[in-house]
Amino acid sequence: MRGPYRRRRVQRPPRMHRFRPAETLGDELPVTRLSVSEYEAIRLADLLGLEHREAAEHMAISRPTFTRLIEKARHKVAQALVEGHELVIEGGLFDYVETLYRCPQCGEISPRPVHQGKRARHGCRSSRWEDLAERFPPDSTERSGHGHARERQR
Ligand SMILES: [Zn+2]
Repeated sequence: MRGPYRRRRVQRPPRMHRFRPAETLGDELPVTRLSVSEYEAIRLADLLGLEHREAAEHMAISRPTFTRLIEKARHKVAQALVEGHELVIEGGLFDYVETLYRCPQCGEISPRPVHQGKRARHGCRSSRWEDLAERFPPDSTERSGHGHARERQR
C-alpha cells in the first residue's frame, strides 16, 4: 500500500490544452479550467468507453472517486460548451505514465522525438521537440497544499 494519498495516474499528456469558441474574436472570455485528471477521466470514460471501475483502476483511484471526478469534468465541459467559455486543461496532482512530443514548427505529435514521415511532405525539418509532460506538468506538491487536500484519497 502507498501513503494516505496517491497521485492520480494519467496515461499521457493532453495533445492540446486550450480551446476557444471559433466565432469569438475578443479575448475577454470566461475561462473554465479542467485539471489533467478531469481530462483523463473524460478520455477514459467518454472516448474509450471504459466502465467507471476499469477507468478508476487506470487512474489508480477508487471507483467512487472516479465517479465524482467524471461528473465534475462533464459539468465543466458542458458549461464551457453551452456558455461559450475558453477551456484550459492544466494542473492537478498526477503522474504521467508516458509522454508525447510536439514539433514546435509543424505541430506534429509523436510518442518519440522523431518525425514519422507523412509530415515531411511539407518540408518540416525541425529537430526541436517539446516534451508535453514538461509543457503540461502537475502542480508541484510544495506549493499546492490546497490541491493536495482536495485530491486526497479516502
Ligand atoms: Zn515538424
